[in-house]
Amino acid sequence: MTIAPANPRAGSPPVENAHLIGGEWVPAASGQTIEVINPATGQVLANVPRGTAADVDAAVTAAQAAFPAWRDTNATARGALIAAWARLIEQHEAEIDQLESQEVGRPHWGPPPMARILTFIAGQADKVSGLSLPTHSPDVLGLTLREPYGVVGSVIPWNAPGPMFVNDVGAAIAAGNTIVIKPAEDAPLTPLMLAKLAMEAGIPPGVINVVTGYGGEAGAAIPVHKGIRRMSFTGSPATGSEVMQACGKNLVPLHLELGGKSPQVVFPDADLDAAIPAMVNSITLNTGQICAAGSRVVVDRSVHAEVVHRLAEAMGRVSVGPWHEKVQMGPLINAKQHARVLDYMRVGEEEGAELVLGGGVPDGATFEQGFFVEPTLFDQVDPKMRIAQEEIFGPVLSVIPVDGEEEALAVANGTDYGLVASVWTRDVGAAVRMSRGLQAGQVAVNAALGSGVIGGPFGGYKRSGFGRTMGADAVLEYTQVKTVSLRGTA
Ligand code: NAD
Repeated sequence: MTIAPANPRAGSPPVENAHLIGGEWVPAASGQTIEVINPATGQVLANVPRGTAADVDAAVTAAQAAFPAWRDTNATARGALIAAWARLIEQHEAEIDQLESQEVGRPHWGPPPMARILTFIAGQADKVSGLSLPTHSPDVLGLTLREPYGVVGSVIPWNAPGPMFVNDVGAAIAAGNTIVIKPAEDAPLTPLMLAKLAMEAGIPPGVINVVTGYGGEAGAAIPVHKGIRRMSFTGSPATGSEVMQACGKNLVPLHLELGGKSPQVVFPDADLDAAIPAMVNSITLNTGQICAAGSRVVVDRSVHAEVVHRLAEAMGRVSVGPWHEKVQMGPLINAKQHARVLDYMRVGEEEGAELVLGGGVPDGATFEQGFFVEPTLFDQVDPKMRIAQEEIFGPVLSVIPVDGEEEALAVANGTDYGLVASVWTRDVGAAVRMSRGLQAGQVAVNAALGSGVIGGPFGGYKRSGFGRTMGADAVLEYTQVKTVSLRGTA
């Protein structure tokens, strides 16, 4: 794997053109590769193996071989190895941050969260316990054991490859499972580097297997493999549905983390000094390519004009450029996503929404090479419009004016999605009613992204998916329950 030297501040490559199977860094069985592109310049950053069903099969075989010893490693020792992995990640923080920035195209966000995610998970490894149960007769003891599934599969997206990787891998292996994971073809380098550090931390060969490749090839081969006992998928609803069908045919239990169309509900008494920057950050961070992005502002008509004016002003100040410059917003991930987001901007205008800001590619030579778009604000959006209903996964914010709390709640809940919702108000009564009424896996009052809760379970309502990560039950989700009865002999 080679990193193009012209790229400034390039991260060092994990391993030359290889993915990780059974503790060995190997090329794809087919010998073919995929180019990973810097989305700010279009340059090739690296080549990774183009894995297929043959690589997945080899990875599942390796994971099956590693499973019994890993399952039988005592839980405290498993936790200690995961904590050691977290410390190594912390030591390599700057390098990992650069690598992730480079392949995703995002400017520096602050310290990457992978080490703290794993530290939290490591602490759960030896807290997995069962129950003692009442019995019908005194010579019987009843209890439950929580056991790992065996080999679990995971497919993750490109928008935050580091956190996605450690969330799934950490929880799965803490519970005693072994894993076969496929990162997204657009951003596999951070996962490969994290896997390399896991090996260095002493996590045994075959416990973590990373197969790189395309979704329709390597990805699709995982849920249909007979050796997979549980599946986890994070990505778009369309692909989630395909993975679910594959799991259905193979009778494999599934955890789905899908998209969102998260509302930011603004009441007349909202603290706009806090709300405006948080809402702008929520739709421009990672160029809007965040499942939790607050892409709809549902605002009371009495403050609507002021909110639009201030949003336009703040979004207009968001600096756009290549990830390695001091900018707030980088490019979109790839040409397909670029075309898709530009198309939604066109659709918004065609549907009759009022374009207040942006709506295209920024002017200038820098923006001609990469996949850049402008922060874009639409006003007077009707809740039925496509830009109000469909996940754009770009920096496009739709403002929907409403009259009163009842309409605000109906509009906020009026999409197929239910991932995150925010409410901006000083009225405790309204905050309580909205917290109960909003159909979303996460509700934040007076906060948008990252409101500072440690161990808050994360997942969707409705078509945003099911199952939860990140919480105190994240490791339990990777276990199955066995009831044991012990009858004493005379
Ligand atoms: P995507 O569904 O296109 O791809 C996700 C992953 O699935 C990639 O690794 C891809 O290679 C793989 N894939 C594609 N086809 C497959 C198939 N047939 N079988 C198995 N795997 C296949 O999604 P994306 O465009 O990479 O990511 C964006 C989407 O992910 C958005 O909808 C976003 O909201 C969602 N997302 C959700 C969360 C969450 O936690 N809820 C987090 C991040 C992203």
